Amino acid sequence: MNDDVASTVGFGAAGVLIPEIRSVGIVGAGQMGSGIAHVCALAGLDVTLVDIKADALPKALATINRNMTRQVNRTLISEDLRDEALLRIKTSTDYTAFAEADFVIEAATEKEDIKRAVFKAMMPHLKPECMVASNTSSISITRLGASTDRPEKFIGMHFMNPVPVMKLVEIIRGIATDETTFQSVKALAQKLGKVSAVAEDFPAFIVNRILVPMINEAVYALYEGVGSVEAIDTSMKLGANHPMGPLELGDFIGLDTCLSIMQILHEGLADSKYRPCPLLVKYVEAGWLGRKTGRGFYDYTQTPPKPTR
Ligand code: NAD
Repeated sequence: MNDDVASTVGFGAAGVLIPEIRSVGIVGAGQMGSGIAHVCALAGLDVTLVDIKADALPKALATINRNMTRQVNRTLISEDLRDEALLRIKTSTDYTAFAEADFVIEAATEKEDIKRAVFKAMMPHLKPECMVASNTSSISITRLGASTDRPEKFIGMHFMNPVPVMKLVEIIRGIATDETTFQSVKALAQKLGKVSAVAEDFPAFIVNRILVPMINEAVYALYEGVGSVEAIDTSMKLGANHPMGPLELGDFIGLDTCLSIMQILHEGLADSKYRPCPLLVKYVEAGWLGRKTGRGFYDYTQTPPKPTR
């Protein structure tokens, strides 16, 4: 098979040639980056995971191994598939490792200056045709794309947490994103077994525009003494049939990520209804970020996790 044929998956609806993504770079080996690496490796892609913190990398590999083993135990995947997938994941603290990548997904901390610094450092090491996505929950794709040398190849690919379990991927085109990039990323989402929903490039897109203000409202209810952590979560689980309470969900997402999203909604839409709850700010200032730090609205050092208010 010649290389040109091997590197395309076909033509999109508008007759656009869609390049196949076979090798993926991922920036950020946190909750999301490791989940994205997990699903990409299982789908047969070569994965290179980069983090600024060297110790985040073995931790991510251990998490991926543990989560894939759970899938083996539930007979969702075979042991061979797990072992092959794990071998496809390489790690590095250096962007030169992205030299062969067809596509890079940025999943670093939800701060615009961090993401801009990542793009600035990374771009010189990518091949010219490499497409780039951000997994940002809320930052403008158009603005992030404009900070790169390839806004037409830049797109939002927003996975949900936990990535191996959640079916949805939001795809967000920036104003400059071309059709080829859009079609390639849509095809990739499908290859990963995900359903995609297209969202316009407005702050927080669709899911978080609706979900995170609900979590923020739950923190207000706690702050104003309307109910305890337990009462609020039980109310939404049993009264609205939500699988998790909003405070438990905030802890799961990460309270720093929730706060960043509220700040972006507040600034981006200039509407006071999006003001972050002062109690949420205080928790983040304290470093009580939820599950990932062992404490948020629940204390995770206890089993079962104990409400803290
Ligand atoms: P996290 O805190 O678990 O992980 C972030 C990782 O980025 C850390 O390992 C950190 O060391 C690394 N990092 C920071 N600066 C870096 C740099 N300059 N270069 C390389 N790596 C760097 O955060 P997360 O929950 O995985 O979120 C990552 C992104 O995914 C954010 O944009 C967030 O909004 C988005 N997201 C999060 C969720 C969620 O539920 N947590 C859901 C969808 C999207």
